[in-house]
Amino acid sequence: MEVNFRGLGAMRIWRRLVVAGVAVGIAGVATGRVEAQRLPGGVRPEHYSLTITPDLNAATFAGKETIDVVLDAPSTAITLNAAEIEIVSVKATAAGNWQNPQGDIGQTTNAGVPPLSAVVRDDDSSRAQSALVTLDEKKEQATFTFVQALPAGRMRLAIEYKGILNDKLRGFYLSKTKLRRYGVTQFESTDARRAFPSFDEPALKATFDMTLVVDAGNTAISNMKIVSDTAGPVVGKHTVVFAQTPRMSTYLVAFLVGDFKCSEGKSDGVPIRVCATPDKVGLTHFALDSAKQTLHDYNQYFGIKYPLAKLDLVAVPDFEAGAMENFGCITFREATLLVNKRDGSLPAKKEVAETVAHEMAHLWLGDIVTPAWWDNLWLNEGFATWMETKEAEKEHPNWRFEQDAAVVKNRTMDEDAGRTTRPIQARVETPAEIEESFDDIAYDKAGAVIAMVENWVGEETFRKGVQAYVAAHEYGNATAEDFWNAETEVSGLPVDVVMRGFVQQPGVPVVTLSNDGTSVPVTQRRFILSGAVSGASGAGGAGQLWTIPLCIKRASCQLLTPQTQELQEGPAEQFLYANGGDKGYYRTEYAPEQLKTIETHAETALTPPERIGLLGDEWALMRAGQAPVGDFMGLVLAVKQDPNATVMENALGRVTAIETRIATDADRERLDGVVRREFGGVYAGLAKGDGLEMENREALRATLFTALGQAGEPEVLAEALTDTQTLLAGRKPTDAAMADAAMALTAAKGDAAMYEKMLRLAQSATDPDLKQDALRTLTRFQAPELVVRTLEYAVSDKVRSQDSWTLIAQLLSRRETQDAAWAFVQQHWDEIAQRAAENSGTRIVAATGAFCSVERRDEVTSFFAAHPIASARRTLARSIDSIDDCIHLRAAQEPELRRWLDAQMAQ
Ligand SMILES: [Zn+2]
Repeated sequence: MEVNFRGLGAMRIWRRLVVAGVAVGIAGVATGRVEAQRLPGGVRPEHYSLTITPDLNAATFAGKETIDVVLDAPSTAITLNAAEIEIVSVKATAAGNWQNPQGDIGQTTNAGVPPLSAVVRDDDSSRAQSALVTLDEKKEQATFTFVQALPAGRMRLAIEYKGILNDKLRGFYLSKTKLRRYGVTQFESTDARRAFPSFDEPALKATFDMTLVVDAGNTAISNMKIVSDTAGPVVGKHTVVFAQTPRMSTYLVAFLVGDFKCSEGKSDGVPIRVCATPDKVGLTHFALDSAKQTLHDYNQYFGIKYPLAKLDLVAVPDFEAGAMENFGCITFREATLLVNKRDGSLPAKKEVAETVAHEMAHLWLGDIVTPAWWDNLWLNEGFATWMETKEAEKEHPNWRFEQDAAVVKNRTMDEDAGRTTRPIQARVETPAEIEESFDDIAYDKAGAVIAMVENWVGEETFRKGVQAYVAAHEYGNATAEDFWNAETEVSGLPVDVVMRGFVQQPGVPVVTLSNDGTSVPVTQRRFILSGAVSGASGAGGAGQLWTIPLCIKRASCQLLTPQTQELQEGPAEQFLYANGGDKGYYRTEYAPEQLKTIETHAETALTPPERIGLLGDEWALMRAGQAPVGDFMGLVLAVKQDPNATVMENALGRVTAIETRIATDADRERLDGVVRREFGGVYAGLAKGDGLEMENREALRATLFTALGQAGEPEVLAEALTDTQTLLAGRKPTDAAMADAAMALTAAKGDAAMYEKMLRLAQSATDPDLKQDALRTLTRFQAPELVVRTLEYAVSDKVRSQDSWTLIAQLLSRRETQDAAWAFVQQHWDEIAQRAAENSGTRIVAATGAFCSVERRDEVTSFFAAHPIASARRTLARSIDSIDDCIHLRAAQEPELRRWLDAQMAQ
């Protein structure tokens, strides 16, 4: 799954920096664990047969289901998952007599057991036994109790039930456009149980037969291809029967009902469709090209061909996540799949290419091989995150995906340096805990650790390990050990030792280098961002050590063990950069003279990802109080001519963070002056032909344009105003690449008249990219009455609930609007909480991590104590931690910033 804070707003890298400080990642140590909600076991499903009849107008559905199960031992009760569905009847039919005729059935394989259909006929009611149904709402479970004990062995459960098409974007739910209604599904992690009674745990894999009975005017899409489509059973309906799925987990089942139109292609013999509501089918072609290329590349990479007879990628109008890897039927929010192939913006195309590559990686890592339990979610998400960069970079080598990954790694290591972080592999039991574990640690830290290991063992060796792992667990389940054992065996290197350290321990190491003239002494410790805050539990992570593949630039990699005291690389090398390719998941702290040499040669000797890594290390050390902010600003100015857009975004994004988190109002003005002075010429120089490759130049211009506009450069603001007026008049601006940046800058000073126009654009735009830009721009207006209007708009039914929280979170994250937004959130919490899925509340809790005062910290603490969110417990701890970090940072660095600015003014 691609979670929505990546899909909307934060996904685009430069925007991610602009909203720096929004603690979108969630981490921390859970306390007060609620009781486990796992199924009791002893029953294994083998096959589901489902017939679902939705009534879109009434927002209800009826279900008929059989589940073929195997009982390990005789029992009078079977417990499975069910939530918000009304069970009408349950019957059990044994495969033989009530006395167990095949007491030895205990294997998941079918060996030696006659297929159920041979011994149980659907009309065989003579041995059927009805069940008494009891529901446990809290546990989301139903228990079927039988008078006579069911024997061990095979058994068929026949269930009739009714459900509602909800508006909470989970389970089987209703999605609407202006023209009609759709019935769509989203089951990961624990919501298949809202659509059909099921053994809703990832290890309980089964095959599925799906039948949908829908209105004559509706189409139906599911995991597999359609095998028959016939009129009936009543006038005005047709019955769509889909082929049987391979063994798979319940959370990967999908079915969609409504009116979808698709563009079609083929790759390696597999038909691929990209589908959307009819008005948007023109925006499906870019994604179709991506999907075709990706399928071919992955068939090669994994050595196992994509196994299903078709692949659909479908954009759904209302969708909480970014996208979801249902086997054979991947669903997306519109903005992560649909983009104009010819005129679409580069960030929008990048987002689609990456999301398609991410979801399709799951077809192997997630769908074919599935983690046995959610504690190893990272085996899904870390892999897909790592793979998405690899594939997108291969497809579009000029689009700087590797630099984006370096930016994400920096942000992730900053989060992981908080006191309340968590290990990649952590115990999760309840749906709320599972939900909360879809965080930056599971996605981005795991992805970065996988990239580090691949870089160390070598790409081809690593691939062989992945292939061995997938082949060994095809259509089954696996654990972290299964993966690193496969890699260890293939490579002959201690991959297991390295990965255990990074996967099972929380936090990020810092490697400290020095130089005594004859050798390079090295030490390591856990890096904590603000360990100096008193009362921090476990600050310093004393005793925690890693085995780290450390790759010196221009030398081979070496393993830094907990015992290593000096690097194998001697001091003969004047220039020593200890994170070659920026692939290592660790911070590096150099001796002052080592750092000076690196900085002097940064632009020529370091690659763009390495420069981003260097900026990140120095930023982190400054935040930890180990260097003054002036030194960091010196580094920013040292890279001001950097020709790479992502490096520039990274450097200028930190300046914005300094303005937000450290500077007083007066110092902010002086810092703006420095930005104008230092970067104005760089921007002006870019207008001429400079040999830069097109996409990079456009992005570089947009970055500098934004920074200068924010710093108040009059010419830039005038240009932004012209572009925005052109856009609002419905024409194309001269520079489409800067349209979004121009709108954001203009809105900051915008009046009610402009707001009206932007609002109309947000409501009328059919292109999801333009619509998102317009929505986001609404949050840029700073006039107090307009901020309130945006907040009211966000909780109105004019905004899809999937987008509601994003607007609020953006307003919470920015210095200029956060006070108004926070007051509104507290006053209107009931409306906000009621409007959308629980996830949205969690994201708002995360956004409060951008605050920076004792007063706000105490308010956040007491407000969410009074309004608790089950899936935001760690998130809240993390936000409090983040506010504390900022308070500490401001106190320590505000005088340092003033000192540096004084020196600058004297120049
Ligand atoms: Zn995913």
